[in-house]
Amino acid sequence: MAQARGSRIDFDEDENIEFTIEGDVEVVENFDSMGLKDELLRGVYAYGFERPSAVQQRAVKPITSGRDVIAQSQSGTGKTAVFSMGILQMLDTTSSDTQALVLSPTRELAEQTQKVILALGDFMNVQCHACIGGKSIGEDIRRLDYGVQVVSGTPGRVFDMIRRRNLRTRNLQMLVIDEADEMLNKGFKEQIYDIYRYLPPSTQVVLISATMPQEVLDMTKKFMNMPVKILVKRDELTLEGIKQFFVAVEKEEWKFDTLCDLYDTLTVTQAVIFCNTKRKVDWLTAKMREVNFTVSSMHGDMPQKERDAIMEEFRSGRSRVLIATDVWGRGLDVQQVSLVICYDLPNNRELYIHRIGRSGRFGRKGVAINFVKSDDVRILRDIEQYYSTQIDEMPMNITDML
Ligand code: ADP
Repeated sequence: MAQARGSRIDFDEDENIEFTIEGDVEVVENFDSMGLKDELLRGVYAYGFERPSAVQQRAVKPITSGRDVIAQSQSGTGKTAVFSMGILQMLDTTSSDTQALVLSPTRELAEQTQKVILALGDFMNVQCHACIGGKSIGEDIRRLDYGVQVVSGTPGRVFDMIRRRNLRTRNLQMLVIDEADEMLNKGFKEQIYDIYRYLPPSTQVVLISATMPQEVLDMTKKFMNMPVKILVKRDELTLEGIKQFFVAVEKEEWKFDTLCDLYDTLTVTQAVIFCNTKRKVDWLTAKMREVNFTVSSMHGDMPQKERDAIMEEFRSGRSRVLIATDVWGRGLDVQQVSLVICYDLPNNRELYIHRIGRSGRFGRKGVAINFVKSDDVRILRDIEQYYSTQIDEMPMNITDML
């Protein structure tokens, strides 16, 4: 691919990620060297991070040095923590003015971001409020009047609060636009532009997007001042050659028995079972062991050392069934696994291809089985359509396909 003028390629070997970078970016390989405030650093370690992810190594510094930054990368690479650290580093916690605003396309994401900011800022006495539709306006007004240093919200509600002058933007230092492409897909364009008009001209802008369609580029040109660009290119994943099936389980309670029925099939080869939450992974692991099935499990709350040990056990074949969350980064490298089960359907399309897809380099055949409750059928059809792929009902002779 042609390289834009002034850009360079930078390869991160640990995470196997190729970056295209424009502007001044150095690679900072540990949190200690990022020049973060002590209280923030404590929060980062207390949250369980040991080492910055590849995008964190590159993007935190430009943000804390005050530059406008564009980070393009897929979910799960550690971007929320990037801008959260950027915000917390800049924050003056002796003032109750609103200093940072994060816009997200969904309420869930806005709340998730609020949680990350509060957690990383645990030793900083930071006030962060989620300003999202569907919640009481009165409560928003009360919180905003009381003073919150960071607001994480969806564009509609945030604009409403700004227009009512409950959210005062006079001392705003930083605007983060998360998942910009999704935001435009959802028709938030006008609201984002409206909000931007209320911000001080000197506001630092950080923009995150998985893709860079023309509308996002327009936005970057209008809102941003000589941005540093950190663009991530991941291995292209494909669903080609993967046979995908679903089992209709109707209700959540039926999933467990369905899985037990499949256990013999799982151990013919090696299998990974994905759940959406850490709690669920723990629960399912315990429950499988209760009925004497041998399983390993892994999720993002475990220390890296433990994760490495579990992966090693799995890779070597000593364990054959692994129950996991969508663990961050390359922690879970399951290119060799020929059977993947989604005990829960993933929360977004991208996670689906990360669980099930293969990169060209490792491209092998494989089988994926999705447990689908009645109200999940819609999501399954959406995935099918989005990836132009076919997900059939699981046949009886599934074992023959492995
Ligand atoms: P994104 O915003 O790119 O989707 P997140 O910031 O939400 O990614 O990170 C994905 C997951 O990885 C989260 O569970 C997060 O806690 C975890 N994570 C992020 N950075 C690190 C790190 N440096 N070390 C360990 N885990 C991390």
